Amino acid sequence: MNDSQKIALVTGATRGIGLETVRQIAETGVRTLLAGRDEARTKAAAKQLSDEGLPVDPIILDVADAGSIVAAVKHVTDEYGRLDILVNNAGILLDALDKKPSEQSLQVWRDTFDTNVFAVVEVTKAFLPLIKASPAGRIVNVSSQLGSLTLHNDPSSSIYGFKIPAYNVSKSAVNAWTVELAYELKDTPVKVNAIHPGYVQTDMNGGHGEIDVPTGAKSSVQMALLDANGPNGTFTYLGKELPW
Ligand code: NAP
Repeated sequence: MNDSQKIALVTGATRGIGLETVRQIAETGVRTLLAGRDEARTKAAAKQLSDEGLPVDPIILDVADAGSIVAAVKHVTDEYGRLDILVNNAGILLDALDKKPSEQSLQVWRDTFDTNVFAVVEVTKAFLPLIKASPAGRIVNVSSQLGSLTLHNDPSSSIYGFKIPAYNVSKSAVNAWTVELAYELKDTPVKVNAIHPGYVQTDMNGGHGEIDVPTGAKSSVQMALLDANGPNGTFTYLGKELPW
């Protein structure tokens, strides 16, 4: 298959890691749909990249809105007739950093899970028929090392003391969902993998990350562009396996 015929879609791509993921995938020649929930900002971000000559189109997608998901699938089907790569990148962090795990409100848990977990499942289910019809479907779930139960239980780990439970457990759930879906699709060409982007300088952490955004997009791009011999059902950072 000619890469220029492939279609990729990256959710939550108006800024941060998602925007850079669109850029890096499009730079390989794959037509990449920059998905965002705000129409004006989504179109402006896509125009910036397409004005640079990259094959990027905007698509409106609020991952936490069922109607928006249905409309986005219809748009992709009608306009492109295929989807080869889905990067579930949109995510939120709502925990109050000064609260203990037991003190986070249930509303924070619910809102976090709506976007970080249930939306990933719903968006994936909605696009799955197109992904399965692709000769080389790829699904990338943007997780976090903060979802690693092994690291959270290890006193020598750098994240041992970083307990923001709604966010952390939402990413543990994303990892578990990745394992479930990878199992279901193991005898198909589709590959489903979770990644940790690194601790990246974005709005999510007030720009206090350790690595720049271009490096932070690399793990997603790597898994989005896997060839037929690539892995399925893994959790990695820059190609290195992380503990679940
Ligand atoms: P960010 O700069 O805060 O960007 C988050 C993106 O998600 C924005 O484009 C935002 O859109 C979008 N989004 C949120 N809710 C959405 C919804 N309902 N529908 C559509 N889009 C939605 O965060 P980031 O650092 O780039 O994070 C990207 C992913 O990496 C997230 O899944 C995050 O959990 C993960 N991650 C980040 C780090 C890090 O160090 N930054 C580390 C580990 C994992 P709007 O512009 O409309 O708000």
